[in-house]
Amino acid sequence: MGCATALSLAERGARDIVVLERAVPGAEASSAAAGILGAQLEGEGPGEEVDLFRRARSRYREWAEMLRKETGIDVGHKQCGALQVAFDERASAILEARVAWQKKADLVAELVDGRGARVIEPALSDRVICAAHFPEEAQVDPRALLRALVAAIARRTGITIRSGVTVQRLLLEDARCVGVQLDDSELRADATVLAAGAWSSLIPGVPASVPEVKPMRGQLVQLDERPPSVRAIVFGEGGYVVPRGDGRVVCGSTMELVGYRREVTASGLASILTRALTLVPSLGQAQVGPAWSSFRPFASARLVGKSPLAGLFLATGHHRNGILLARETGEHVAEAVLTSS
Ligand SMILES: Cc1cc2nc3c(=O)[nH]c(=O)nc-3n(C[C@H](O)[C@H](O)[C@H](O)COP(=O)(O)OP(=O)(O)OC[C@H]3O[C@@H](n4cnc5c(N)ncnc54)[C@H](O)[C@@H]3O)c2cc1C
Repeated sequence: MGCATALSLAERGARDIVVLERAVPGAEASSAAAGILGAQLEGEGPGEEVDLFRRARSRYREWAEMLRKETGIDVGHKQCGALQVAFDERASAILEARVAWQKKADLVAELVDGRGARVIEPALSDRVICAAHFPEEAQVDPRALLRALVAAIARRTGITIRSGVTVQRLLLEDARCVGVQLDDSELRADATVLAAGAWSSLIPGVPASVPEVKPMRGQLVQLDERPPSVRAIVFGEGGYVVPRGDGRVVCGSTMELVGYRREVTASGLASILTRALTLVPSLGQAQVGPAWSSFRPFASARLVGKSPLAGLFLATGHHRNGILLARETGEHVAEAVLTSS
């Protein structure tokens, strides 16, 4: 969120933008994510949210192309489609209702039986009886995305990234945020954007009226199939598999409120792999690759734009959809900053 906002600010002509990062940009959730641009998998019903998700997804290709042209980095944007699957009648009825409201909302969605689903994704389990097919769902490779964003920032004039610098607190003067206190210096600013992900509520000075952002741990494991066989994102049974197209298949995930404990746990891995193999049994033969975890910034609502404190803007609380919403948030926050100051 910090990088995307900085880039949007620069695109709108702002200068003297500084991205402050205690580690390196992309050290946390944004590189750890699975990278599903899941407008229809994540949309919970018709309305503004799914419209935002759909707009974000449809504008991603252009963003990926812009980043590739500027930096030479391919962020792995693919419209690979997604199947949300059901193994029993109860889950089928839920999918049927989902496809019905999505069609009404002019989203491209189709209900298929098990056989139809296996035509779309031959690697799918024989036990799948029904699936919702969302052919416009897409993915990016979040690590590549973060590399590209950082490289794009490095090429722009007017933005500096300061890595290895921890924000200790907000600087407050006359009921206004005027910058931040760093380890051994102050950085004063006309506008300060809070984009500290799952750590956003830990920064002293953030008004108490801003909803708390909690760390929702998610674990992931990468499998390696050679040759690649899975083509579509498969979602169901509380898990998902995301084939990158080159044999890497990212399997996720857990949703755990365990504070900032960064473990990849035995039970986490067991549940992720059990679900992945239930969805796509042939993954049982894949090589096990790296496993990792990070923290989704979980809040009662996304926190984007002006805050109750003058001079402070919010770009946090995106929970499961921060990769999908990065550009939209960056643009929204940049507009808020530039129209308020
Ligand atoms: C397992 C998992 C799977 C996910 N899958 C998807 C997905 O498929 N699709 C999707 O759209 N989203 C997904 N997400 C969600 C997405 O990753 C997040 O919503 C998004 O990355 C949040 O971005 P952010 O910039 O707010 O947080 P982060 O990327 O965590 O960035 C916050 C940064 O702030 C820095 N920071 C914190 N405190 C300070 C401080 N005091 N001083 C300086 N720097 C500080 C941190 O070091 C960190 O780099 C997933 C998340 C996880 C964990």
